[in-house]
Amino acid sequence: MEQLRRILSDLGSRLRRFMSGRYGTDQLNLALLVLYLVLSLLGSAASFFLFNLLALIVVILAFFRMLSFDHDRRARENQVFLEKTEPLLRRLRQLRLRLTDRQHRYYRCPCCKQMLRVPRGRGKITIICPRCRTSIERRS
Ligand SMILES: [Zn+2]
Repeated sequence: MEQLRRILSDLGSRLRRFMSGRYGTDQLNLALLVLYLVLSLLGSAASFFLFNLLALIVVILAFFRMLSFDHDRRARENQVFLEKTEPLLRRLRQLRLRLTDRQHRYYRCPCCKQMLRVPRGRGKITIICPRCRTSIERRS
């Protein structure tokens, strides 16, 4: 038991030495690892070689980034990744809100596509879009 603890602590300090100065992980790497898992699951489920090859490329890329010493470049890559995925994440958050919100109904303005939120259970109401002033009649 004592010996196992010593071995683990030794491994831990070796790993810390090995990782010191290296970039480590970030949101882009997390996304790459998730992509790797999805691709390798698809690869083994469909026994399709291309998925396994892509999974291998993705995991090599993730390790390359994690072990890299070029912090500035890796941080810039992560920043670009966050900027590109922000609109998608915002839409997913909105969708989750709409699906879980029992107090409101959501409509889209037919004219400017603005999302309109109205309280539920008020019967038939007239909604005026705050952006383009188009008025629509809907059941709340
Ligand atoms: Zn509108």
